Amino acid sequence: MKKHYIIHKLDELISTGNEPSYESLSIKEFITEFDYATKYLSRLLKARSLVMYLLLFKKAYLEVGKRIISIKASEISENLLSDLGRSMSNDTVRKGINELIQRKIIAVNTTLKPGQVNQYEVRLPSELREVQEMIDKDKEYLDKPIDNSRDDYFTDQEKRIEILKRDNYSCFYCLRELHRDDFYLDHITPKTRGGYNYKSNLLSACKTCNTKKQDNDAQVFLLQNYRKDLLTQDEYQSQRDRLKNLVDEYKKIKT
Ligand SMILES: [Zn+2]
Repeated sequence: MKKHYIIHKLDELISTGNEPSYESLSIKEFITEFDYATKYLSRLLKARSLVMYLLLFKKAYLEVGKRIISIKASEISENLLSDLGRSMSNDTVRKGINELIQRKIIAVNTTLKPGQVNQYEVRLPSELREVQEMIDKDKEYLDKPIDNSRDDYFTDQEKRIEILKRDNYSCFYCLRELHRDDFYLDHITPKTRGGYNYKSNLLSACKTCNTKKQDNDAQVFLLQNYRKDLLTQDEYQSQRDRLKNLVDEYKKIKT
């Protein structure tokens, strides 16, 4: 049995460690283009035309290893069954091929005649402008950072842990070490004064600090702890700066 092109490439890759540089696609490119075909071409083509394209794509890039291939219309119809389980009629194949030509995803070098061997240039999904636009749009969407600044970080257990991590597993006010199964979250702008559960309004706290601070001002409470020698001067200044940054961030997104 004749070895498929991609299998042949895989063999070489395994035996030599290098992917051979053919004029055709690398294995990674093949997988990417196949993915584009199912994901994007499916939005442009009728199902019938899409399966026909996948058949030609497979033959060109997986079996033969070239973009120009010769194939009989009957070979296409035999490989594709209609809903009734029979081979597709020549008429259906011709309609499908015509749609692929119109879409410019394939080009034909000969006039289409049933029974005759036709030569097709099978283009890649990424070569279609419409597909490229869809790829770019998806990429833009995926690259966009997710805005979680207004998420509830107080109620959600996993998000509470994120605050603890941000605060280096220590109480913001006295720097005592905290564990994920024993810590509190303090609102900088208290809930009683309309403070939100945003991450920029929350600080990790130990039980003692959380109880003592209550609805007092965070800045003032931090200063009190410094005066009680719970923090060194450097620690106090560093915590004060962090607090200021959080407050600024919170002001920006509040409203
Ligand atoms: Zn504390």
